[in-house]
Amino acid sequence: MRSKGSKQLILDFLLQNAGRIITSRELQEASGWKAEWARRLRELRDEEGWPILSHKDRADLKPGEYLLESTKRKPAFQRAISKETRSRVLERNGYTCQMCGAAAGDQDPFNPARTLRLTIGHIFDKSKGGDDSPGNLRAVCSNCNEGLQNTSPPKASLVHLLSQIRRATIDDQKSVLDWLLKKFKSVGSQPRK
Ligand SMILES: [Zn+2]
Repeated sequence: MRSKGSKQLILDFLLQNAGRIITSRELQEASGWKAEWARRLRELRDEEGWPILSHKDRADLKPGEYLLESTKRKPAFQRAISKETRSRVLERNGYTCQMCGAAAGDQDPFNPARTLRLTIGHIFDKSKGGDDSPGNLRAVCSNCNEGLQNTSPPKASLVHLLSQIRRATIDDQKSVLDWLLKKFKSVGSQPRK
């Protein structure tokens, strides 16, 4: 598998530079300039338990700077966010990025050949005292999580939303209707409390 190769390259580089602040550019280079280097880095951190810190974990790191804190992996039970918590948060957020509103499987606006993946982000970054409790977690797409979209657009107001839908093509309106029907199918017949 090609991706396995670049992940190993990134890990080798991290291990050789443990304790030193490294930049995203160095990691990109170490990966062999693979476009997916950031995803591989996340897998090393989230799935394999390597203690890779970023500016979200420590206030003295700048965006784009990373630090392998130790050459020891965290045992599975100490890894910050469990699979159960992840799926609970994703479900609670309707599998929708809470910053830009994109859904899992949407086309990636930065790379149209790819579909978007959702990851778990912190509402208050750990560098600002946030923790890993479910209440501080939310679904965010990988672009928002990497800070590619710097500011989350303000939530659309109802008036704006309706005007957009009224102006849309019939086909797009039908897609909206399909999506709403699917979303509310399970609760549609229940009376609201
Ligand atoms: Zn997003």
